[in-house]
Amino acid sequence: MPPTFLQKSPQEIVERCISENKVFIFSKSFCPFCFKVKAIFRSERIGFDALELDLIENGAEIQEALFAKSGQKTVPNVYINGEHVGGSDKVQELHSKGELITLLNPKTHSYDYDYIVIGGGSGGLASSKEAARLGAKVAVCDFVKPTPIGTTWGLGGTCVNVGCIPKKLMHQAAILGHDLKDSREFGWSTPEKPEHNWNTMVEGIQNHIGSLNWGYRVALRDKKIDYLNAFATFVDEHTIKTVDKKGKEKTLTSNNFLIAVGGRPRYPDIPGAKEFGITSDDIFSLPYSPGKTLLVGASYISLECAGFLHGLGYDVTVMVRSILLRGFDRQMSEKIGEIMEQMGVKFLRETIPTSVERIEEGQPGKLKVTAKTRSGGQVVDEYNTVVFAIGRDPFISELGLENIGVQLAKSGKIVVDKREVSSVSNVYAVGDVIDGGLELTPVAIQAGKLLARRLYGNGKELMDYVNVPTTVFTAIEYGCCGLSEEAAVEKFGEANIDVYHSNFWPLEFTVAHRPENDCYAKLVVLRKEGEEFVIGFHYLGPNAGEVTQGFSIALKLNATKSDFDNLVGIHPTCAEVFTTLTITKRSGKDVASQGC
Ligand code: FAD
Ligand code: NDP
Repeated sequence: MPPTFLQKSPQEIVERCISENKVFIFSKSFCPFCFKVKAIFRSERIGFDALELDLIENGAEIQEALFAKSGQKTVPNVYINGEHVGGSDKVQELHSKGELITLLNPKTHSYDYDYIVIGGGSGGLASSKEAARLGAKVAVCDFVKPTPIGTTWGLGGTCVNVGCIPKKLMHQAAILGHDLKDSREFGWSTPEKPEHNWNTMVEGIQNHIGSLNWGYRVALRDKKIDYLNAFATFVDEHTIKTVDKKGKEKTLTSNNFLIAVGGRPRYPDIPGAKEFGITSDDIFSLPYSPGKTLLVGASYISLECAGFLHGLGYDVTVMVRSILLRGFDRQMSEKIGEIMEQMGVKFLRETIPTSVERIEEGQPGKLKVTAKTRSGGQVVDEYNTVVFAIGRDPFISELGLENIGVQLAKSGKIVVDKREVSSVSNVYAVGDVIDGGLELTPVAIQAGKLLARRLYGNGKELMDYVNVPTTVFTAIEYGCCGLSEEAAVEKFGEANIDVYHSNFWPLEFTVAHRPENDCYAKLVVLRKEGEEFVIGFHYLGPNAGEVTQGFSIALKLNATKSDFDNLVGIHPTCAEVFTTLTITKRSGKDVASQGC
């Protein structure tokens, strides 16, 4: 509260606190009843503003003015939407009856809904449930248009059906295969060449996904959210038309809309791509074993699929247009490529496909792929399956955005401000569809939840896109958070950056005789004012997601290299390597692994 505000008359201060804030608590900093009331609002994730009357000079006068207005002498004294609610007992009573939230969002319009969410994926479901919890009347429209070969799926969006979940489970299937080989060194008797059954794996994974789809429907019903399995198109900024799979149309109106329609895989514009190629939308439910597979693209999706397919025993080739994992730390990316190559994944560098032809019918059949290299050469080879993983486009061409004038960026994605508002003031967007965001599930979820809290829970927090951790689930996993070495040098200058690093040999690898120097840890630090701030965390090794998740909070809290050094490690783990890093790249010393 600005000091000038507190120079106004006590009556005016009271009036303005009440009228300018949705939820206001007149409080005292030592009062246990005030703590209780604030804890209730926090537990409901309802934002509030408070004035601590004991900490300001004219607190006693303000309390008198408040007494004159509300008839209540004590604190806490709570107002919601300009209405006097009362003290601690009253707030507790309303809370226990579930009525606190009703006070927060009185209906002020005549639309069918407060909030219609288009897209029942990570961002849309999270936002719709949070908005409903905060008392909004909500509907969710979710509809999956089939892929060119006819694959379709249920409620939950990309992550659950054709993304993170089936990907991680197939990655796990590959890890198990590797573990089976290792297990012999630990005394288990397993067949020399364990066999994997693709259909058994797909069935198990699809059954799990089916249960998740069902769970989401139940969750929406329990939260009294109307679910429409229908495709939505904007008619005007308060109206959408929905069409279900039987062609039945409905018109719905809403005060606010959230666009959370995600993206779909891109196909190259070459002959045969859509007729004979597939994408990540098809691979996880493929009803037959893919056989010899070509993956086109060299980022997350391509390398992850290459990793698990190779781990499951398939002959795998990755066609790389330029570099691996654009945007990630170069050293780490190239190391992943080297390790995958050593494992047996083939890489066709600086090559792009020019056509795909079917040369043999069947499941999987046989395809002839012609490609050209950067130097002008031609490469021709035969594969059973071709997977395009060359990026994803926002799924907005049929959304009717032109009917309401939502502004798009050059990327074709929706332009939003930091409050996720599009160029149309009641139309918001989160997740993969927004320009400048990060295409990650937890990002869509967090942005969707925070938006709902700002719209219906008086929340103030904005989505923070900085230092978001991520993991690439390649055969050897790569987790990172913060800046790559190159980005750090570019931003702060080489003289101010140091890189601490080490190879390490996970204990689990030793008895199994896995390579000693595949795993690698690196911290990028910024030297500033006599301190070394950790601004980049990079880990190549087992369980990278788990390790990176934990350390990412350190980066969020601006941890220094001394904080990492002072941390006592857990022995014997891989993560402990980050508590003992002493060698800098600048020193040129050898970081080859020395064993335990
Ligand atoms: P989505 O989850 O894509 O949901 C959008 C929904 O809206 C879909 O169901 C769509 O059919 C529906 N829809 C579209 N248009 C309409 C319309 N007009 N009317 C009604 N419904 C409509 N992220 C991670 O964090 N970790 C991972 O390990 C990971 N792995 C991935 C692996 C793969 C293979 C892929 C493809 C992605 C992966 N991702 C991962 C990214 C993650 O899946 C996405 O970032 C996330 O799902 C985006 O959520 P969203 O809410 O923006 O959209
Ligand atoms: P990306 O956009 O990240 O990468 C596309 C890849 O395809 C690049 O290697 C690109 O090469 C290449 N490419 C583009 N066009 C062509 C073309 N015409 N011919 C040949 N190659 C081409 O897309 P992805 O599909 O891999 O991933 C999409 C997003 O999904 C990711 O950004 C990520 O956020 C999310 N995701 C997250 C995962 C996780 O958290 N573990 C896993 C999977 C996906 P070039 O570098 O030359 O442009």
